[in-house]
Amino acid sequence: RKPRVAVVFGGRSSEHAVSCATAGSVLQALDRERYDVIPVGISVDGRWVLEKDDPERLAIGAGKLPEVDEKGTAVVLANDRGGELVSLDPATVPGTLGEVDVVFPLLHGPFGEDGTLQGLLEMADVRYVGAGVLASAVAMDKHFAKLVFSGQGFPVVPYTLLKPGAWEADRSACEEAVASLGYPVFVKPTRGGSSIGITKVSRPQDLGEAVEKAAAHDPKVLVEASVEGAREIECGVLESLDGGPPRASAVAEIRYGTEYEFYDFEAKYLDDERHVDLALPAPLDEKATRQVQDVAVRAFEALGAEGLARVDFFLRNDGTLLLNEINTMPGFTPYSMFPRMWAASGVDYAALCDHLIQLALRRPTGLR
Ligand code: ADP
Ligand code: MG
Ligand code: MG
Repeated sequence: RKPRVAVVFGGRSSEHAVSCATAGSVLQALDRERYDVIPVGISVDGRWVLEKDDPERLAIGAGKLPEVDEKGTAVVLANDRGGELVSLDPATVPGTLGEVDVVFPLLHGPFGEDGTLQGLLEMADVRYVGAGVLASAVAMDKHFAKLVFSGQGFPVVPYTLLKPGAWEADRSACEEAVASLGYPVFVKPTRGGSSIGITKVSRPQDLGEAVEKAAAHDPKVLVEASVEGAREIECGVLESLDGGPPRASAVAEIRYGTEYEFYDFEAKYLDDERHVDLALPAPLDEKATRQVQDVAVRAFEALGAEGLARVDFFLRNDGTLLLNEINTMPGFTPYSMFPRMWAASGVDYAALCDHLIQLALRRPTGLR
């Protein structure tokens, strides 16, 4: 029989809608002659449901954010308030989750991109697309990612970590630690994405509000020195099917007008006025381009990532390259950076989806 692919999307993160939109595109791109496709949605409160195989419903429309329908047709995997564990409703889909050949987890942010889902799939002995438990968890946690990257000699942005409750317990100690970075600073949920909960703070008196905003998404709050006037550069990395070294994509630069203070959620997803411009390939000389690609691949390997990742940098005017972050499940609509960078490198969207599923099918489960 054809390999059965469960496309899992939605989830308990603030990037729920983005994930739904991505799933819509992937469902459309997967070759149904080659794969049996099962769309599985996770609602915002964690219910697993079989979704309609309807890409249109999942698109981000004008002012409309898609959401998994929690009243979906069947419980696939319920939490302790729900019932069944790891079983597809046989009336709707013949088989159990164990009979799925590969899971394509199109989930961004905590509870999906962070190793939690990957752990569940390891436990169930099911193959899946992308990074494993550890690399997913480390990449999602901007604090631990910095520890790994700086430990392996990659330059990262200076930061201070506000542990859960630290702000409430000793505000002046936090203020002092942040002041020593020098303003402006970026205040972020340590585990998050899509710029959600991130604020650029220019004055000490605005710090508290930003910390509270970040803490609403993650009690662990990361404060970074702002890298002023740097260019934002991104590079895709893809594992090879022949077991050779991972490949780097064409390099892209994100440029935005003064309408945006930084590359925030609006700039990323809702910029209808075209104030955000993607330069692909980035206007860099050959040497700088090669350096970005080389660091991207080495960072991918340093993290122990698998399958795919998008590696994001700040490039200073003096030529120094700072590693900002690695996203182990980057935005994946056809308009997202990662697929566009690969399209510019000769791998179109459908081929990219196919490549990832083939990688996952070849990868053994368990320790590797
Ligand atoms: P996310 O995982 O949500 O994308 P990032 O750390 O990439 O979080 O931050 C989102 C955006 O915020 C970046 O693309 C950049 O525009 C801006 N930003 C974040 N940190 C800094 C920093 N230290 N200096 C300058 N800009 C930053
Ligand atoms: Mg990110
Ligand atoms: Mg980012």
